[in-house]
Amino acid sequence: MRVYLSRPHMSGHEEQRVAEAFASNFVAPLGPQLDAFESRVSDYLGGGLHCVGLSSGSAALHLALRIAGVGPGDEVWISSMTFAGGIFPVNYLGARPRFFDLDSATWTVDIGLLREEFDRAAREGRLPKALIPTDLYGQSVDLDPLEALAERYGVRLIVDSAESLGALYQGSRRAGTGGDAAVLSFNGNKIITTSGGGMLVTRHKEWADKARFLATQARDPAPHYEHSTYGYNYRLSNICAAIGLGQMEVLEDRVTRRREIFDRYVAALSQHGIGFMPEPAGLRSTRWLTAVTIDPAQTGISREQVRLALFEHRIEARPLWKPMHLQPLYQGSPYHGQGVDAHLFDCGLCLPSGSDMSNEQQDEVIGHIQSLLGKA
Ligand SMILES: *Cc1c(COP(=O)(O)O)cnc(C)c1O
Repeated sequence: MRVYLSRPHMSGHEEQRVAEAFASNFVAPLGPQLDAFESRVSDYLGGGLHCVGLSSGSAALHLALRIAGVGPGDEVWISSMTFAGGIFPVNYLGARPRFFDLDSATWTVDIGLLREEFDRAAREGRLPKALIPTDLYGQSVDLDPLEALAERYGVRLIVDSAESLGALYQGSRRAGTGGDAAVLSFNGNKIITTSGGGMLVTRHKEWADKARFLATQARDPAPHYEHSTYGYNYRLSNICAAIGLGQMEVLEDRVTRRREIFDRYVAALSQHGIGFMPEPAGLRSTRWLTAVTIDPAQTGISREQVRLALFEHRIEARPLWKPMHLQPLYQGSPYHGQGVDAHLFDCGLCLPSGSDMSNEQQDEVIGHIQSLLGKA
């Protein structure tokens, strides 16, 4: 590939931070850089939240679900349109997913569908253990009604904010601050990266303490290894946290650049029948990935034709997440909705959106799409 969907984008500050970690020999999963990274993210999110650095976003979700008490046979309600790492931990715990469609006006979970099902499930005595709404492509879910629902029905709310660090909800509240816990990811393709990593963000101190305990092999206080439960090796390496410290210095720049890339696509392609992911009033998406819809009825061309044509020029584009209720793995799982998500999957494409992409590279991507649409 010559132009990538979303590549790691180093700022130059990271090597300095890594060198500091090397100089003190904290080449281990714990150390001062990890502590500093956790408090840096906590401050960024507005303070008062507990942050636990972990080896991945999936690990953070796994711990959050376990601490929420999710176990075999429990139901977990979740947006169907998500990434594998945002749902597989439900399987790790032997729980069962119930899937919900997106709202076409926001491309995040349809709250009306959730309300109806909460009402029905409460009457029938089959409420879920946890609810996982997913922030998509850099945009926060509608937190206020979700938090009200979770509170009303006594259900744990775990917000998957892996794609939305840097986004704003209702003015000044940051994505990643929602629910009982939120999950962040610093995987290589995310808006900032630690090469691989994640974080559990929670308002409950007990949850953070429990997460630290479980993430370091569940060691009870004793000089030897004493275990009353099983744990995991899930902590973020101190070296990776050092990279994260460097990346936090440029997070705002990265958001600005991704939004600029989105706006350039809109200016160049919206007259050609290409649709763009909406941004509801009061929300500020990071536009982590520019997600577009290519409706063959309007453009005469399918999203797959566009993807393949770009691929010919070694430009990486990718369909939106395939909804989980359509995956062979989850065949037969309950689903609520009208297939807004399935339609977006059919006609949706993520265009190259990396903050290190040059305007010239983006113009080349745009030029190829324009000529395809012109011919169609
Ligand atoms: C990236 C991502 C995760 C976590 O992924 P990791 O690779 O495990 O860090 C979870 N959910 C969603 C929606 C994601 O995009």
